[in-house]
Amino acid sequence: MSKKAYIATFGCQMNEHDSEQMAGILSNMAYETTEDLAGADLVLVNTCCIRQKAEEKAYSFLGRLRRFKKKNPDLMVIVAGCLAQQEGSRLFKKSPGLNLVIGPQGIHRLPELLREAEKNVRKITCTELTTSQELPGHVRSLNGKRTVTAYVSIMTGCNNFCSYCIVPYVRGREFSRRSGEILKEIRGLVEQGVREITLLGQNVNSYGLHGDGGCGFADLVRKIGEVDGLDRLRFTTSHPKDLSDDLIECFGSIKPLCEHIHLPMQSGSDRILKRMNRKYTRDDYLEKVAKLKGVCPHISITTDLIAGFPGETEADFEDTLDIMRQVRFAGAFAFKYSDRPPAKAVTFNDKLPEPVKQERLSRLLALQKEITYNRNKSMVGKRAEVLVEGYSKSSPREWMGRARTNEVVNFSGDGDLPGKVVTVAVEKACLHSLKGSLAGE
Ligand code: SF4
Repeated sequence: MSKKAYIATFGCQMNEHDSEQMAGILSNMAYETTEDLAGADLVLVNTCCIRQKAEEKAYSFLGRLRRFKKKNPDLMVIVAGCLAQQEGSRLFKKSPGLNLVIGPQGIHRLPELLREAEKNVRKITCTELTTSQELPGHVRSLNGKRTVTAYVSIMTGCNNFCSYCIVPYVRGREFSRRSGEILKEIRGLVEQGVREITLLGQNVNSYGLHGDGGCGFADLVRKIGEVDGLDRLRFTTSHPKDLSDDLIECFGSIKPLCEHIHLPMQSGSDRILKRMNRKYTRDDYLEKVAKLKGVCPHISITTDLIAGFPGETEADFEDTLDIMRQVRFAGAFAFKYSDRPPAKAVTFNDKLPEPVKQERLSRLLALQKEITYNRNKSMVGKRAEVLVEGYSKSSPREWMGRARTNEVVNFSGDGDLPGKVVTVAVEKACLHSLKGSLAGE
C-alpha cells in the first residue's frame, strides 16, 4: 500500500512550482499526495520567509503539526523552501519533531535524503548554496492529471540585492536553465494536455545572462511561442530595469503571449527607489509602461508595492499613489515594509512606526481596490476570450477560467469545457473577478 504525503505550500508561484516538483519526486517514491493531514505518513512544509507574515504562517503550521507527531511518532516531517534555507539546522530546535530540512537548491536530492531520514538515523539538513546548479531537465509527468495550466521554472536565484529582499541569500545567485531543456519540458506538458504555460524566475528578463541558457529571454519567448498546441504563454517576474525593447516587441508579435505583465514598481519615489537599490527611476518605469501600451494597447499591468519603507516621507508615499493613478494597475500585491535579515535595509535607522506603515498600506489598498473595480466594470458588456481551467470555486455549477489579460472569469455554460478557449459575455464586475455566460466555443 502506498504511503500518504501531505504538502503544505506557503509563498509565491516559485514555491508552488517547487511543491509540484517535490510531489512528482514523492510519487516516484510511492507516496500518494493527500488532503487529509491526520492520515498522512509524511508532511512536507514548503515555506516562504520573504515577508514576516509568510514566516509567521509557516511557524504556526509547524506548531500545529506537534500534536500529529505526538499521535504518530513515525510521522516524517520535512521543511523545504526559503525558511529552511535561512534557518537551516536551527529549525530542529524551534520544531523538535522535524526530520529533514531542505533548501530550494536541494530539491533534486530529496530521494536520497528522504531515504536516509526514513532510516531514522539522524536529523538531516541540506542547505548548501552553489553557483551552478543541477536544475531538473526532464520531461515532467503529470501522472494523467488533467491540468490546463502549468508553471515552468526557467531560472533560479537572483543577483539584484534589492535592499529589502532576502531572495539572493536564500535562493542563491542567478542561474538559467538550458533553453533546449525548457522547450523539451514545455512540449512534454503540451502533449499531456497543458494549454497555458507560465515561465518562472525571480527576474526572467535577465534569463541567459548567467548559467546555461544559450539565448536571451526575448529569443526564448519567441521559440516557446512556436510550440504547437500551446494556446497561452505568460511569465513572471519581470524586473523593470531589465525589460528590453526586444521583449516589449514580443507582446505585439507572439500570438500565445498573453496581454498581461507583472512589473513590480515597489515605490513611486525616486529617492526610495534608490534606497531600495532598484536601479530605475519613476520616469524609467513610466517610459517602459508607455512602450508596452504602445505595442499592446490593452495590456494589463499588475505590480508589487511596499508601504512604509524606511525613511519614506508622506511626499514619497504620495508619489507612489500618483504613479498608481497614472498607470491604473489591474492589480497590486501590497505589503508594509518588514525587516528581513540579512537584507541591507535592516540596518537603516529611520524605520517608520507601525501605525504609519499600516495607515499607508490601507490607503494604498483602498486606491487599488477602486482602480481594479473600475477596470473590471469597464469590461461589462464586452466579450472575453477565456481559457477554461475547471469549476468555479464559488459555485460548482459555474466554470472558471482566465481572460488573456489575467482576470478570473466565472461563467455559466454547458459542455465539457476545461482546456478549451471560449468566448464569454461579461455581465457583472466583482472586486476580484468577472461574471458572465458562455457566448461561444
Ligand atoms: S529582483 Fe530584488 S526583489 Fe526581486 S528577487 Fe531579486 S533582490 Fe528580491
